[in-house]
Amino acid sequence: MKEADVTMGDGRTIDLVLDISTGCKFHCTGCQVRREVDVSKVDSDLDELAGFLEEIKANGGRLHDLILGPTDVMVARNGVEILKSEKVKRLASYFENVQLISTFTDESNVSFHELGVLLDDLAVNGGVRLNTPFDTRKVDNPRYVERMKRNLAAVEGGLTRGKITKVFIGVPYVYGQKYAKDTNDLTSEIMMKIRDYEIHPKVNIDILTPHPRNGLRDIINNENLLISIERMTEILDEIAEDEVDRQPKSMTVHELNPEEGRLLAFTYAEGRLYKNVFLQESLAIFESCFEIPKPWAYDPVKSVLVTMNLNQTFPTEFNAVCMECEHNEACRRRDVISIKNVAGVAQCISPLSFTRQKPYATMAEGKE
Ligand code: SF4
Repeated sequence: MKEADVTMGDGRTIDLVLDISTGCKFHCTGCQVRREVDVSKVDSDLDELAGFLEEIKANGGRLHDLILGPTDVMVARNGVEILKSEKVKRLASYFENVQLISTFTDESNVSFHELGVLLDDLAVNGGVRLNTPFDTRKVDNPRYVERMKRNLAAVEGGLTRGKITKVFIGVPYVYGQKYAKDTNDLTSEIMMKIRDYEIHPKVNIDILTPHPRNGLRDIINNENLLISIERMTEILDEIAEDEVDRQPKSMTVHELNPEEGRLLAFTYAEGRLYKNVFLQESLAIFESCFEIPKPWAYDPVKSVLVTMNLNQTFPTEFNAVCMECEHNEACRRRDVISIKNVAGVAQCISPLSFTRQKPYATMAEGKE
C-alpha cells in the first residue's frame, strides 16, 4: 500500500469531530456518548489542532466537516460558549462545513432562529450541516415530524450567508430493534418512511452503528457492535435496492469499495485525539491503539497513521483469518483488523464480506 493511502495529504477528505459540549438532559435510546466531558484542556488543545489543520491543508488534504458534539448544544451547559467561540471559529475556517449535532427539540440555550444566526457566523466557508437522531418510536406521529420540519426551517431562517448542505437524520440501530419489539427488525422500513416525509430537500438518512466509543473491552459495547454488523449490512443492502433508481440518493449506503475509502476522520475528546475507524460509518473508539499522541503536527501524525496501518499486519490469535483474505488491505485501511484485535474476536466482522452489493457499493453518499 502506498503511504499516501493511509495519511492526510493528496486530496484525502478529512473530518474532525470535537467532543467539547458537556451536559445533557436527554436520555436517548442507544446513546453511548459521554454526557459530561472534561473540557479543561480544550482552550490550549484547539490552538494545537489549528496548527495541525493548517499543515494538512498545506499538504493538499481536503478538510470537509468540523463536527460539534457530543451532546446537544441547545441544552449543553457550554453550548452557547461553543457557538460563540473564536477558537472554534478559527478551526471552522479550515473546513468546508460546520456540522452540528442536536435533537432539534429544545431551545433551552437559544432559539432555533438564533442558532441559525450563530451558525451563519461560525461556518466561515458557508457550509452548515445539521445532524439529528430521529426518535423512531414517533415515526408514525405527524406532529413530531412537523415539529422537526419547523425547527429545521427556523435554523435555516437564521442563515443569511451560509447554506444548509446536508441534514443528516440518524436512525440508531437499537431504535429499530425497539420499535420492532418482538416482530421483525424494521430498521430499513423506518428509514424509508422517514425519507418519504421529505423533512428537508438536503436530507440524508443514515443508520447508526451501536458505537463502542467508550471501549470494546466493555462486554456490552463489544456484543452490541458485533451482533449488529451482519444485520446492518442486510439493512443497507435492502436500502441499496430500494434507492437504486433514485436521484439524488437520500439514504446512505457507505462505500465499501477498497479504492473508495476516501474519508479520514479524527475525534478530539478530553485532551486526547483519536483516529476514527470505519465499519459502515466513521466511528470513534476510545482505545489506546487508535489514539494519536502529541505533538499533533503533520509529520509525526503521518508516522503514527502509517504505524497504525502496519501494526495490523502482525499475526495475532484474532486475525489469522484476515491474513489470507482478499479484503485485507481494505480492512487495514479502515482499521477493521485492529477492532477485531481489541474486541478479541476471531470471526470476520467486516461488512465487505456480508454485503450482497456487487462488486461493492457504488451508490454511496461519499463526500460532496
Ligand atoms: S475482517 Fe473479514 S473481510 Fe476483513 S480482512 Fe479479516 S476476514 Fe477479510
